Amino acid sequence: MTKDYDFIIIGAGPAGMTAAVYASRAGMRTALLEAGAPGGKLLKTNKISNWPGIKEEPGSQLAMDMFEHSTSFGAVYEYGNVTEIRDGERKQVICQDGTVFTAPAVLVATGTKERLLGIPGEEEHIGRGISYCAVCDGAFSRNQDVAVIGGGNSALEESVYLTQFASKVYIVMRRDVFRAEQAVIEAARSNPKIEILQNYRPVQVMDKEGKVGGLEIAHAQSGEKKLLPVTGIFPYIGADPVTGFLKELPVLDKQGYMLVNSEMETVVSLLYGAGDVCQKGLRQVVTAASDGAIAAQSAFQKLRSLALL
Ligand SMILES: Cc1cc2nc3c(=O)[nH]c(=O)nc-3n(C[C@H](O)[C@H](O)[C@H](O)COP(=O)(O)OP(=O)(O)OC[C@H]3O[C@@H](n4cnc5c(N)ncnc54)[C@H](O)[C@@H]3O)c2cc1C
Repeated sequence: MTKDYDFIIIGAGPAGMTAAVYASRAGMRTALLEAGAPGGKLLKTNKISNWPGIKEEPGSQLAMDMFEHSTSFGAVYEYGNVTEIRDGERKQVICQDGTVFTAPAVLVATGTKERLLGIPGEEEHIGRGISYCAVCDGAFSRNQDVAVIGGGNSALEESVYLTQFASKVYIVMRRDVFRAEQAVIEAARSNPKIEILQNYRPVQVMDKEGKVGGLEIAHAQSGEKKLLPVTGIFPYIGADPVTGFLKELPVLDKQGYMLVNSEMETVVSLLYGAGDVCQKGLRQVVTAASDGAIAAQSAFQKLRSLALL
């Protein structure tokens, strides 16, 4: 099946949903393609406290509000797991189920995917005590001990979130330097349920009757090993861009992030990138939304100037 639009947005996270608002308000026939649920990483975030105008809100609520807004001016929300983009006068966006969407302009806003720890016992315990989303699975930790891996904003924020369920939260970090905002560090440090283990790396996930039964960690310098008696493990050690379907096009850096100019356009004319998927310094909701707005507006102006609208 083939479906034709003026503008196709791939990914309904904050970048894609904001682009949908701008594109549809500009009058473009817009498709918003999503492989999962609308909201992107907002759905994995306990609370957002740096979206201007709203002091604090659950990520899921902001996701719902953005989604309603994104489709309220005529953008069409479509299910689609994109596996390939073919360039041409009308670009072809090919989905896993065989559906082909075509448009002269395409925006990629597919974000990033959490990085795995890469240690023995991890893969077989995903969903059995290992989770990359504290908001989704934190409640399973009620009255249990859990470990969060990482020393960035997400690791620390989600550790504090987990203390409302867990009896104890260990933060295991490779180094002795946090990569987080001061307010977030203070919140984690001052929480009596949190113990921070610096200079330790996870070595092995232990099994107990098919579920996580502990986490072995080792000191980075001395090699000394400890066994943490946890039933839940939440890795927050970074993420990689979701751009596998773009690898035939000359639009990625060595790490796979999209390279865009100030108009959010790649070297392929009318192919845009926005949000976490792009090479950039600050990956946040507000910067993703900004990218999406710029990309949609740039596409609109270029399509008009080329008489393609
Ligand atoms: C735990 C956590 C806490 C955070 N807390 C904050 C915070 O407090 N404040 C803040 O500003 N930011 C926070 N962030 C970061 C913020 O969530 C991201 O910067 C933001 O969501 C990026 O938006 P995006 O639209 O670029 O990508 P995403 O939100 O990742 O959305 C990408 C979308 O693309 C879809 N997709 C991927 N591949 C395909 C495909 N092939 N076909 C179709 N669809 C596809 C995905 O399913 C997803 O819905 C947090 C992130 C995490 C993980």
